[in-house]
Amino acid sequence: MRVEFTERTKNVLAGRAGYQCSHPQCSIITIGPGEKEDETSSIGEASHIYSAAKNGPRGQGGLTEEQLKSPENGIWLCKVHARLVDTNNGAGFTASQLISWKKYHEEFIKHHQGRIVNKLHWISKLSIVDSPLFQDSISIDFAKITIIESDSNGAGKTAICEWLSSVSAINRLERWVNCKKLNIEIYLHTPEPHLIEVSVNSGRISYKVDYLDITSSPFPFTCYFFDFNYSKKKYNKTSNFFAEFINISPVLLGSLFDYVCRNKKGILKSIRFATQEELEQDDDSEDEKERDIHDIYCMIQGNDFYLPFERLSGSEKTRVLLDVIIASLNERSKYTPTLLFIEMNETFLSKESFKPYIERLNSIETSFQTIVTTHSNILNECSVGFPRYELIKGINTSTLRKI
Ligand SMILES: [Zn+2]
Repeated sequence: MRVEFTERTKNVLAGRAGYQCSHPQCSIITIGPGEKEDETSSIGEASHIYSAAKNGPRGQGGLTEEQLKSPENGIWLCKVHARLVDTNNGAGFTASQLISWKKYHEEFIKHHQGRIVNKLHWISKLSIVDSPLFQDSISIDFAKITIIESDSNGAGKTAICEWLSSVSAINRLERWVNCKKLNIEIYLHTPEPHLIEVSVNSGRISYKVDYLDITSSPFPFTCYFFDFNYSKKKYNKTSNFFAEFINISPVLLGSLFDYVCRNKKGILKSIRFATQEELEQDDDSEDEKERDIHDIYCMIQGNDFYLPFERLSGSEKTRVLLDVIIASLNERSKYTPTLLFIEMNETFLSKESFKPYIERLNSIETSFQTIVTTHSNILNECSVGFPRYELIKGINTSTLRKI
């Protein structure tokens, strides 16, 4: 049985899209005058993001009937694109992609209505035309969350992340300046479409935005790389580690913790600074003079007591940091477009502990894009709704395939 939208939901979806198709390269107006003076003519459709039928395009993503017919699961498209996204059982269009289209199209409409919009810049595609790493030209379509897998470490994952982050930080390209040939294109929406072309020629980098040569990027993306390398450094206070890891001032940590505590979807029930009593207790238990000060306490879901961050397991620590980073980037992305890169192999995240985060990062709740790099086949079972690419290493060069 198909789960259909009500007329009201269809009207809500059409209205929120400004009666324009939400496909990023379309935006056609879907309503106009009909043949008779008292008629309108519509070429718009309320399409399902997760499928209306059990075996329909993109599957039902574990959603309930109520969720499947809610406006949250719909996207307004013209008839051509409504048909296109369902071709081959939706194989070419993931739920994550459609969620991104919808989110960015709605911001575009808000912008044209003269309203204040979130700075929702969105990277839609990276084309690697020539590079020392890939034999053929390849392209990656980015959704809300995109997974890039490979069997071996390296094999181009780091390069892809570096090239992508050159969207705002041209210095990320420095190690490529002497390579034989590099031609990449980044397609992004601000929400107007833009094209960045990067090419390296005889030790020089040319950086073009919309066909014009420039020397600094006009796109103020925050690119955040989540790995656990910082933990290898020595910190005298946990709060100093947090401040550096999150890249915020230590005096703002308290406000960020309040913000984190409002979201109950992560591992954290609560996070706060240590009380004076806890700091003194800690003092007694340690003999060494040059000891670390454990000044951040966490309450994990399912517990009703606080523990110092340092006493948590590696996996718990990683998830606490992920909770805090997601909250911080969500705040930041209201003012600055943001990209989150997660190098899963460098963290203590298992697929079970990471799955709820994938769902969260893919949902409308977060307003930034995430790129996850990991080993092949780790995220097989949780792969509903977002694009996955696999890098296959050859003798000298790699290839990329969409899974
Ligand atoms: Zn269209």
